[in-house]
Amino acid sequence: MSEAQDCIFCKILDGDIPSAKVYEDEDVYAFLDISQVTKGHTLVIPKQHSKDIYHTHPDVAEKLFSRIPKIANAIKETYDPIGMNVLNNNEAPAGQSVYHLHIHLLPRYGDQDGFE
Ligand code: 5GP
Ligand code: ZN
Repeated sequence: MSEAQDCIFCKILDGDIPSAKVYEDEDVYAFLDISQVTKGHTLVIPKQHSKDIYHTHPDVAEKLFSRIPKIANAIKETYDPIGMNVLNNNEAPAGQSVYHLHIHLLPRYGDQDGFE
């Protein structure tokens, strides 16, 4: 089985696994993380599979990162956080658990938001 065929986020892109869509265009898909670290915790992924930042073509990275301000603003408007972390984990020691490149958008709400 190929890497993409075995990939949970590619299955989400194919509609085989349901997800709560936040944003979509021809290159990028954004959806709520199944395990909300904070309210509105969103993952942004390129539609083209790559397993991590090391294996991502610069054109794919450019498209992905170019959408972040728009999606971050949409989340800010919806959830009214007082801050936001933009995170990308690569390889297990850095916290990566799904091997399809993704950006975490993590709205922050102050001392009680549960994220250290
Ligand atoms: P990582 O740990 O690789 O940086 O982040 C992977 C994220 O994917 C985790 O926060 C995890 O909760 C989320 N995740 C894993 N499986 C699913 C799924 O099937 N649906 C959604 N919406 N999120 C998922
Ligand atoms: Zn994938």
